[in-house]
Amino acid sequence: MPTDSFVHETLGQRVILEAGGAGRHLTAEVDRLGAARIMLIAAEAEAPLADRVAAGLPVALRWTEVVQHVPAELAERAREAAARCRADLLVTVGGGSTTGLAKAVALTSRVPIIAVPTTYAGSEATAVWGLTEGRHKSTGVHASVLPATVIYDSTLTLSLPVGLSVASGFNGLAHCIDSMWAPGSDPINRALALEGIRVLAAGLPKVVADPSGIEGRDECLYGAYLSAVSFASAGSGLHHKICHVLGGSYSLPHAETHAIVLPHVLALNAPGVPERGLRIGQALGGTEPVAALDRLREAVGAPRALKDVGFEEADIGDAAARILPVVPASNPVAVSLPVLEDLLRAAWNGGRS
Ligand code: NAD
Repeated sequence: MPTDSFVHETLGQRVILEAGGAGRHLTAEVDRLGAARIMLIAAEAEAPLADRVAAGLPVALRWTEVVQHVPAELAERAREAAARCRADLLVTVGGGSTTGLAKAVALTSRVPIIAVPTTYAGSEATAVWGLTEGRHKSTGVHASVLPATVIYDSTLTLSLPVGLSVASGFNGLAHCIDSMWAPGSDPINRALALEGIRVLAAGLPKVVADPSGIEGRDECLYGAYLSAVSFASAGSGLHHKICHVLGGSYSLPHAETHAIVLPHVLALNAPGVPERGLRIGQALGGTEPVAALDRLREAVGAPRALKDVGFEEADIGDAAARILPVVPASNPVAVSLPVLEDLLRAAWNGGRS
C-alpha cells in the first residue's frame, strides 16, 4: 500500500522509564541541567511521593496547591512564587493537573520542567498548555512548556486507585484513538497511536487484576507516553474537542469524561474510516473496534455515564452548541447539532448512540 505523503515534527525530549528509578534519574537530570533552585510541584496527596524522589535535591520552594484545569488565578500565584524564589527548574510529581500548573509557570518564565508523572494523562509529552477562567478553558501550544525530561517510575503509580487508573488509562486510549483521525493524523503518529492502544489494552486488565503489580503499571505508563506523543503530533480530533468543552464548561472530571465519551466518538467516526477502524479493533485484540472497546470497558469496569460524573441532562443542548463550532473540518463523518445532541445524550445515560 502506498504511504501517504506527510510533514511530521518530532518533539525533542528525554524520556526515561524505570520502575523504582525516579530518585536516581531525577538527581542525574538535575545535575545535567545545572539546576540549583528547584520549585517542586506536587499536590498534597502526592507530597510523600515527591519527598521520596526529590530527597537530597536543592529544593527552594515546595508548592502543593494544585487544581484541575489550572485556574488562571492559581497560575498567576504560582508564577509569582516561582519568580520570588528564583526557581531555575520546575519538578513535578503528579498527574496532568500538576504538570499543567508547571506548564503555566514555564509559559511565562521559560523555566524548564522535569516531569515525574503519576497518572496516565500524558500531559508531560505534549507542548499543550491549558488555563481556565470562569467556565472557559483556553489552550495553546508553546515549546517552552514541553518538559525537558520525563521520568516514568511505575512504583509511584501503585497508589493510584484502580478506578482512577482505569479512567486515566482510557484518557490515554482516547489520545490514541482520536489521533487516528485528528487534523494532523499521519502514518507516524498513527503507528505510535496503534502501539499505544495495544499496550494500554494489555496493561489495564493487569492493573485491575493486580494493582500492586509492576508489569501492568509499566505498560500503562509506556502506553500513556505513546498516546501523548501521538496526540501531540496529530492534534485534537472530535473526541478532544467534546471533552475540552465538557471539562472546561461543566467542571467534569477529566479522565472519567474521556473514558465515558470515547466509545461514542469511536462508534460515530470509525465507519467513516473503515481501514483505520479495523486497525483500532485489531490493536484492541479484536476486529470490530466498538465491540473490542466495549469488551475492554467491561473487563476493567470503565466509567459509563456522564450523569454519574456531574453532567446534567438539561445541559446537553448548550454543550452541543458549544462543541459544534470547534468540530474539526477534517472529521471523517459529518457532525451536526442533532448528531452531537444524540451523542451527548447516549454518553449521559450510558447507552449507545
Ligand atoms: P489529576 O492530575 O487531577 O489527578 C487526579 C487525582 O489523582 C488527583 O486527586 C491526584 O491527587 C490523584 N493522584 C495522582 N497521582 C496519584 C497517585 N500516584 N496515587 C494516588 N493518587 C494520585 O488528573 P489527570 O487525569 O492526571 O490530569 C487531568 C488534567 O490534565 C486536566 O486538567 C487535563 O486538561 C490535563 N491534561 C493536559 C494534557 C496536555 O497535553 N496539556 C494532556 C492530558 C491531560
